[in-house]
Amino acid sequence: MRITRFSDHNQPPAWGWISGEKIGILEGDPFGAFRRCKPSLKLKDVKLLAPVNPGKLIGIGRNYAEHARERGVEVPSYPLFFLKAPTTIIASGENIVLPPQSQRVEHEVELAIVIGKAARWLDAEQAGEYILGCTVANDVTARDLQQADGQWARAKSFDTFCPIGPWIDTDFDPAEAMISCRVNGELRQTGSTHEMIFPVQQLVAYLSSVMTLLPGDVILTGTPAGIGPLVPGDILESSIEGLGTIQNPVITQPDQMKY
Ligand code: ZN
Repeated sequence: MRITRFSDHNQPPAWGWISGEKIGILEGDPFGAFRRCKPSLKLKDVKLLAPVNPGKLIGIGRNYAEHARERGVEVPSYPLFFLKAPTTIIASGENIVLPPQSQRVEHEVELAIVIGKAARWLDAEQAGEYILGCTVANDVTARDLQQADGQWARAKSFDTFCPIGPWIDTDFDPAEAMISCRVNGELRQTGSTHEMIFPVQQLVAYLSSVMTLLPGDVILTGTPAGIGPLVPGDILESSIEGLGTIQNPVITQPDQMKY
């Protein structure tokens, strides 16, 4: 099943489920009890919102060997993770805003995992039961600030730095899927999720040994090789085969103030 949040003609956001070219209201919420209403609205007539509104947005660093190589850094011996502000989240179609503090903002297409129920001290075999589904995201990063700061919170957390969507697919198998990113139609990043150093179940288990994962929390599972800069006017397209595509224009902050 494909689940997302949407708004029908400026109505308050609602959960919906997608069937072909149509969407129906999902009464209740996908993390608990819900009922699927008949899909009566055309997908093209409603505004699709970001499918998640997480309490925690967790990013995994260097989870593809080729990407670690292109950055000239070691492949980690255990999952390397960071926290990204959930206020970075935007839907497909919304603008990525380049902040004045950075001279180099880069794209990182990633498979995103949505947690379905509270998880603590899982082992990898149990992890699948705690995953609601998968979606597509881009872990947009101010590369110069990441290098300057020596830690990643600022570089990863500017508003609009996490386009995500267009829906959560609860049946998607994240073990082997082509993942790609285009800028203005030109292929920039490509890889397969089977190249991940730490597979999805292992990431969830590892994180659950540190913190309680809660329903709706999102894990960005790392980016394949091919990261590159974004400039105003670019159109960023992030895709996972069999899952979906999101598209986001890139603009600059209108009135720039330096901090
Ligand atoms: Zn990333």
